[in-house]
Amino acid sequence: MTVVRYERRGPVAVVTMNRPKYRNAQNSAMTYALDEAFYRAVADDEVKVIVLAGEGKHFSAGHDIGTPERDAHVSFTRKASLWWDHVGKEGAESRFARESEVYLGMCRRWREIPKPTIAMVQGACIAGGLMLAWVCDLIVASDDAFFADPVVRMGIPGVEYFAHPWAMPPRIAKEFLFTGDRMPARRAYEVGMVNRVVAREELEAETFALAERIAAMPRLGLALTKKAVNQAEDLQGMRAGMDSVFGLHHLAHAHNAETSADSLAGMDPRSMKAAADGS
Ligand code: ZN
Repeated sequence: MTVVRYERRGPVAVVTMNRPKYRNAQNSAMTYALDEAFYRAVADDEVKVIVLAGEGKHFSAGHDIGTPERDAHVSFTRKASLWWDHVGKEGAESRFARESEVYLGMCRRWREIPKPTIAMVQGACIAGGLMLAWVCDLIVASDDAFFADPVVRMGIPGVEYFAHPWAMPPRIAKEFLFTGDRMPARRAYEVGMVNRVVAREELEAETFALAERIAAMPRLGLALTKKAVNQAEDLQGMRAGMDSVFGLHHLAHAHNAETSADSLAGMDPRSMKAAADGS
């Protein structure tokens, strides 16, 4: 089974995460397949807009931290950074090299795709899933969608692509991170994190209608407009802020590795879910 599907509908490329059995948990195989699909969409002159979707009931449960196809110890040809391979390295060196490439590096690379991207989000969009939605220019969510970054339970200050204070107002970001609570789609809309909330059965039609409207605009105009807003965010400190928080993130991983079972403080999908359900 292919972990990412690619199709073209007129001027719109649809990139679909395809591990519904694991709520589209993102392993490295999926990361590199996503990158390949995005590259293909950028290279195709007929494609004007890219939609990122998740197969099944949920957009994405986040990074793969516990499925049978977890591949954190596998080497892939690096695309997003010049860091050396994490495989065969120890401790922070391995983690920093790996996450610089597959998490922060890849997300930054995708944020700079020179064509408009739209995340079409239903169900869960958790932690690493947020990163995938946030790198997209627009987010259309169904009314059953929810967003959460619960990694404070692991002692970690947010996922690797630390866009939180830019994706929502800083005080809301603190509440979101302190509690790890699920933010329903409506609330995400209120705080400006998503563009539209639509009924679940309308999600695809609404997303494609928006994509088609944007696709009617000139290619270079769209690319320059995207770059203009991204540059403005970077001038507001987004890029430098993320770099500094990436250091805190790795301090937390290292502290966990030093004082608990592993760099995730011994947490796995089951214990994270149990903790969330108990709260
Ligand atoms: Zn990490």
